[in-house]
Amino acid sequence: MPYYICKTCGVQHAQTVNSPNSCLICDDERQYVHPDGQSWTTLEDMREKENLQNILKKEEEHLYSIKTEPEFAIGQTAHLIQHKGFNVLWDCITYLDQKTIDQINELGGIQAIALSHPHYYSAQVEWAEAFQAPIYIHEDDKDWVARPSNHIHFWSGETLNMKPGLDLYRLGGHFKGGAVLHWSNGNEGKGCLLTGDVITVAADRNWVSFMYSYPNLIPLPASKVEEIAAKVKPLQFNRIYNAFSKVVRENAGEAVQRSAVRYIKALNSELFHT
Ligand SMILES: [Zn+2]
Ligand SMILES: [Zn+2]
Repeated sequence: MPYYICKTCGVQHAQTVNSPNSCLICDDERQYVHPDGQSWTTLEDMREKENLQNILKKEEEHLYSIKTEPEFAIGQTAHLIQHKGFNVLWDCITYLDQKTIDQINELGGIQAIALSHPHYYSAQVEWAEAFQAPIYIHEDDKDWVARPSNHIHFWSGETLNMKPGLDLYRLGGHFKGGAVLHWSNGNEGKGCLLTGDVITVAADRNWVSFMYSYPNLIPLPASKVEEIAAKVKPLQFNRIYNAFSKVVRENAGEAVQRSAVRYIKALNSELFHT
């Protein structure tokens, strides 16, 4: 029985004889069903019939991005952090082949997989099985797991310390269990925040933004944005990596605070009159 993969969001579902009727991720108002209708593939078909490959790129010392080319589904980038012999895969992508497994094993393998939110659950169980790694997901997003597995550990509360210097923080917003990864050794010890799209990097790379739905352009309430900014404020970090190869390279902590103020002013009609 195959594990069907939704071609629009890239999320792999539990084993079924026939393809599922719908995708729970795409049926949600934060995503969308493709205008041509729901369609499915499998990892086997992706390997055999499509000319896909994963590109590993060194972004900075001990940090690699992993992206599938040509782009598949949402098209996000996962990141691999090497932290003192403990490698974390931050967010996930659907495509996985032996070449990718070999390349990652050369970098020390994967000891844990942590997810920002359901849009990047992708084929996380395939990755967990290939590397025998636990998957960390906030319990508030438990209902969004389309393929259950014993590898998945649901964490609770506001923070999870994975290792000294590697912490998950629940910010909520985009999803109730939406989390970010704080890596204190990143950017030569100045600190990095990996945000998926719980906080996203704006096109100009100097500002960030926050949305309930990115494809459907639904904003978050001002109170939630204020809460996210307050949760991030005590963290030391100079750089943000989002899930689409966009980076705030310097003073990213200040960029979050400044961007939250701008966002709330815009919502409250204090910024512009058009
Ligand atoms: Zn889907
Ligand atoms: Zn998302």
